[in-house]
Amino acid sequence: MNEAQIRERVAAFLAEHDPHGDRLEFLRARYDAGLAWVWFPEGHGGLGAPRELQQVVEHELSATPQLNTGVQAIGLGMAAPTILAFGTEEQKRRFLRPLWTGEEIWCQLFSEPGAGSDLATLGTRAVRDGDEWVVDGQKVWTSGAHHARWAILVARTDPGVPKHRGLTYFVCDMHAPGVEVRPLRQITGEAEFNEVFLTGVRLPDDLRLGEVGDGWRVAQTTLMNERVAIGGAPVRRGGGMVGAVLDAWREHPGLRSHDLHERLLSLWVEAEVTRLSGARLREQLAAGHPGPEGSGMKLSFARLNQELSGFDVEFRRELTYDDWTFRRSEDVDFYGRGPGYRYLRAKGNSIEGGTSEILRNIIAERVLGLPSEPRVDKDVPWKDLPR
Ligand SMILES: Cc1cc2nc3c(=O)[nH]c(=O)nc-3n(C[C@H](O)[C@H](O)[C@H](O)COP(=O)(O)OP(=O)(O)OC[C@H]3O[C@@H](n4cnc5c(N)ncnc54)[C@H](O)[C@@H]3O)c2cc1C
Repeated sequence: MNEAQIRERVAAFLAEHDPHGDRLEFLRARYDAGLAWVWFPEGHGGLGAPRELQQVVEHELSATPQLNTGVQAIGLGMAAPTILAFGTEEQKRRFLRPLWTGEEIWCQLFSEPGAGSDLATLGTRAVRDGDEWVVDGQKVWTSGAHHARWAILVARTDPGVPKHRGLTYFVCDMHAPGVEVRPLRQITGEAEFNEVFLTGVRLPDDLRLGEVGDGWRVAQTTLMNERVAIGGAPVRRGGGMVGAVLDAWREHPGLRSHDLHERLLSLWVEAEVTRLSGARLREQLAAGHPGPEGSGMKLSFARLNQELSGFDVEFRRELTYDDWTFRRSEDVDFYGRGPGYRYLRAKGNSIEGGTSEILRNIIAERVLGLPSEPRVDKDVPWKDLPR
């Protein structure tokens, strides 16, 4: 399929579906027409078309109802590609459509109090009981769990084998008895994330994604996609965080200085290099699944977002912050909020989705081919690891 054919498809779709009618019906119809994510297979919101044609669809449909990508970031960026890669036909049919339309929100139950960077040490247990699994454990830093209908969950199904081998990946029903979500307040005052307690949660075996014991491999697909989702989102030239800083620069000529000008120019160049690298990464993605290169994008994004949001408050001389709203509306995105909020929230960018130290390790080992860190526990059964 080429660009002209995609345009024709979109035109035919618009001739049949009124974008000014019911928003949800429009989004469902768009999914059914294969115009949700064109590179997905037919029947699952796509057309099996090259990924780069998605931007043509987005452009043609820019004046029609849009997704709430903020609240569904984990669903769209991480759960969907993982379900596509490892889900059964039945799971794809059940989950992908309401995920894309936003009818069912997803969260990610990976991190635990004792397992973050070294995720494979996680201790949440899933024990088989007939056709079900019984899950017990605690997860932490779970963004959006208070909105979520479903979660992607990694749990330990075999403590007797080394840590990476005893994991299994599930879809967790966030409405199941035994799931308890408690808010955690961040530096911004809001509670975007939560701790989640799982006590005797029963999950039918048909909510398992991938083979028993293959959870680490499934989780890698999620994590590689997470880094691309956080760091590799398309940005227009001069847009994103550098755009917010440039707006401030234009609005306040009296605050400019030669020194700040020099710094802004160098940040602009870095932002442009990062943006172009993102475009190149997305082109590579069109040819397959994301590899470790996505870690480089996420690393640059985090550093740049922190430097730019710091520059923004310094330039505006606006260092006060007094908005401690606990649960914020999901309708206002990062850029729609004030400079103080952005400065504080950007601090989390170098932690979420893998810390910058871990991403440097991945780039060193898997992109540059440098010697790996010593891993003394890789052959030790998980149950014998010191905790
Ligand atoms: C805003 C935000 C949202 C999040 N949302 C989610 C979510 O929805 N779901 C979820 O599961 N998790 C989520 N997380 C958790 C996130 O993935 C973890 O915080 C992260 O992976 C780090 O784990 P940790 O906090 O346990 O830190 P630790 O792993 O304890 O690391 C502590 C410090 O040690 C460093 N370190 C650790 N190991 C090494 C090493 N081998 N080499 C060098 N340095 C090392 C780290 O870089 C870090 O500086 C979120 C975090 C944030 C900040």
